[in-house]
Amino acid sequence: MDTPQKAFNPFAMAQRQLDEAAALLQLDPAVHELLRWPLRELHVTLPVKMDDGSTKIFHGYRVQYNDARGPNKGGIRYHSAETIDTVRALAAWMTWKTAVVDIPLGGGKGGIVCDPKTLSPGELERLSRAYIRQVGRMLGLEKDVPAPDVYTTPQIMAWMADEYAFMQGYNEFGMITGKPLALGGSAGRGDATARGGMICLREAARELQVELKGATAAIQGYGNAGSLAHKLGRELFGLKIVAVSDSRGGIHNPEGLDYEPVAAHKARTGSVIDFPGARNITNEELLELDVLILVPAALENAINADNAGQIRGKFIVELANGPTTPEADRVLHEKGAYVIPDFLCNAGGVTVSYFEMVQNAYNYYWEEEVVHTRLDQKMTTAFRTVHAMAQQKKVHNRLAAYLVAVNRVAEAVRLRGWA
Ligand code: GLU
Repeated sequence: MDTPQKAFNPFAMAQRQLDEAAALLQLDPAVHELLRWPLRELHVTLPVKMDDGSTKIFHGYRVQYNDARGPNKGGIRYHSAETIDTVRALAAWMTWKTAVVDIPLGGGKGGIVCDPKTLSPGELERLSRAYIRQVGRMLGLEKDVPAPDVYTTPQIMAWMADEYAFMQGYNEFGMITGKPLALGGSAGRGDATARGGMICLREAARELQVELKGATAAIQGYGNAGSLAHKLGRELFGLKIVAVSDSRGGIHNPEGLDYEPVAAHKARTGSVIDFPGARNITNEELLELDVLILVPAALENAINADNAGQIRGKFIVELANGPTTPEADRVLHEKGAYVIPDFLCNAGGVTVSYFEMVQNAYNYYWEEEVVHTRLDQKMTTAFRTVHAMAQQKKVHNRLAAYLVAVNRVAEAVRLRGWA
């Protein structure tokens, strides 16, 4: 039976977003059609020995969406609801993401259909190595470079780098990013997604002349991006984070939530819920709270036709990929909300991933301050370019970001003579 969640197709949404930009850009029909589809994709079937001695078969994907501007780049997600269309959408968004921050990379994405919470560390390692044994043939510093995404970690990147090293016969650390520091990782990669989003928020607040100190915020999702946005939002601006949530539910305290005790509670219990000194709320309630800043940092389709009318946040800081549907975009725009669109807002992660590749390639590593400064330059420039485009064309920020990014990819496609 089709649940509403299943009826939502992220790739159809990504194509619709592109179509809108293509019409405004009066894109050549062949270039437009080329950009509507992945250039290549690999579907793999992975036998994995489980701890109980049985063998379980998993399914995985790697999509190389477009490499006109440089090697494909994008994370690998482990999720039980993963589909090829989710991976295609995420790969398309990576293509626009690397273009909007103007780093010389294309877009790709990978995924394995699995519930990592039910796998032991040993099973997780064997699954990750099995994925690389199949997908490794299309990876490499010059070809396609994965990274972490939802439910994948630096440890998983380390196993993957190691498996790839055995396939090649030598270390090629730059074939994957988000690695631990001891294995060619970059300083500043851990919180780069959240930091990049905070830089965008700083610039947006400057444009709209809004004071961030003490401003109220709610964060949906408490993985790498959401939890570190909690930390950095307090550290950098003194935001008052009144609510956070994860896949099991949310917590609300109008007086504000400190980062350390909430993170410690989640580390101990596996969830933010039942945090002492806060009231449990649902994810739906969190999204509709009366806050200045709303940070969707979980999955696709969080803000859609059903709840967009009830959203009260003025700044929507999209650390997730694809959290807002086109219907919701229209509603938010009419309300006057300032959306910092996903592939701009969360581009800090891939930007520092690119720095990691550069450091791996010349085997010389930068201080954290250097990473922070260069990230700030990239994010600030991208933010200002998108903001200026939105003003100039009188369109909402997501469409403006598409105009900037699609133009850049289309130019590379044309120069190569592909269309
Ligand atoms: N998975 C992250 C994203 O969606 C990071 C990708 C990367 O570093 O390549 O942007």
